[in-house]
Amino acid sequence: MPRAKRICGKTGCPEAAAGRWCTKHNREADKARGTSTERGYGTQHQTLRRAFIPEHQAGTLICWRCRELIPANEPFDLGHDDDDRTQYRGPEHANRCNRSAAGKRAHQYD
Ligand SMILES: [Zn+2]
Ligand SMILES: [Zn+2]
Repeated sequence: MPRAKRICGKTGCPEAAAGRWCTKHNREADKARGTSTERGYGTQHQTLRRAFIPEHQAGTLICWRCRELIPANEPFDLGHDDDDRTQYRGPEHANRCNRSAAGKRAHQYD
């Protein structure tokens, strides 16, 4: 009788596994890690945002949502189009006008 093989750590998966998961679930775990870091997206976002930093520090940056200046001492974000999240609209007030940030930090707004 061969010794019982180690099986995949994923619940219900009967596949043999060399490590924690079988080949298929190993690949899925890798993919999930890639998505959570969002490397490509983050890099592009940071590069575009960085281009506005000199203007921000000069105090001449205008928020595309409310059309007011974004003072150098107030954080700004690179805003997305509300209808098309792949499109950047321009700099916006990180705390006042960035809707996703506002939702996440709702408790800071009272
Ligand atoms: Zn598996
Ligand atoms: Zn604004």
